[in-house]
Amino acid sequence: MDQINEFVDERQKSWCIHCGEFIESVDSNRDHAPSKILLLKPYPENLPVVQICKQCNEGFSLDEEYTATFLSCVLTGSTNPDTQCNPRAALILRKSPNLRARIERAKKEYQTLGGETRTVWIPETGRINRIALKNARNHAFFEYGEPMLQEPNSIWSAPLETLTTEQRSEFEKINMEADLAGWPEVGSRMMTRLLTGQDFSDGWIVIQDGTYQYGVVQHDGILVRSVLFNYLATEVYWAD
Ligand SMILES: [Zn+2]
Repeated sequence: MDQINEFVDERQKSWCIHCGEFIESVDSNRDHAPSKILLLKPYPENLPVVQICKQCNEGFSLDEEYTATFLSCVLTGSTNPDTQCNPRAALILRKSPNLRARIERAKKEYQTLGGETRTVWIPETGRINRIALKNARNHAFFEYGEPMLQEPNSIWSAPLETLTTEQRSEFEKINMEADLAGWPEVGSRMMTRLLTGQDFSDGWIVIQDGTYQYGVVQHDGILVRSVLFNYLATEVYWAD
């Protein structure tokens, strides 16, 4: 990815977009959006970054580890560290037997009427949604300079394949030019993307092909969607 500088109001950068603390009065650091644990090496250059307070940043790490590890286990059908698609998940499974056991317990096998054995994985939805919300706040801020401190009106996450055909095509349609009711502020990254098409694919911003993409639409509020590992869909919406 190329770097896009943005020129939206500097005043909006003075507080942590997760807790509202003034950044100058607390320890803060740069947070990648999404964090690298949700990506694969080699990492793309110029990942989006947002300055957030250290306490919030550290507060997300266990849920981030859980989300990345759970996803990798589901995608590979196993909690075995040797078979993971995300090497960071393999490391976590090795160093944390408790988390491995916890994810193993979430794996349920059942018999179909035809006698086949199928597997389902029961996610800890609250933890995954916390990370979806964190990323959504970072993406909205990075693209539009909008701090979305309030609680969202809705939030969900689900595997793409569990959506109906209609739900899926509605979800995947995040076409800015067609849906654009309000134009993004001049100087915002989103305005630059609209003008240049940078990193855009049908309205989605592709951070790493097949691993992480997101879309942000400002339309009667802010809507942020993401797709992780071509598998998990998330959506967060704040009404105006
Ligand atoms: Zn904070």
